[in-house]
Amino acid sequence: MKCQFCNSEIPDDAMFCPECGKGQEKPQDTSPAGFCPKCGYPLESGSLFCPECGARTDAGPEMPKSETQSAPFQAADTN
Ligand SMILES: [Zn+2]
Ligand SMILES: [Zn+2]
Repeated sequence: MKCQFCNSEIPDDAMFCPECGKGQEKPQDTSPAGFCPKCGYPLESGSLFCPECGARTDAGPEMPKSETQSAPFQAADTN
């Protein structure tokens, strides 16, 4: 990557520029895993709650509503 201050070519994981010695901010290379369904704030992977508004996110696997749990079918006597 390039130094944000002097534009020198520096290692990607360099925390400081060897040329000008200024600290480098972390490159925003990682795209957000998702967005808050409420406020649209970019969320990190695994975030269960939005750090911005506190709303619960859809990070977890979506589970269908298990309302139809009343199994209408009885175990037939297969004897
Ligand atoms: Zn520099
Ligand atoms: Zn939010």
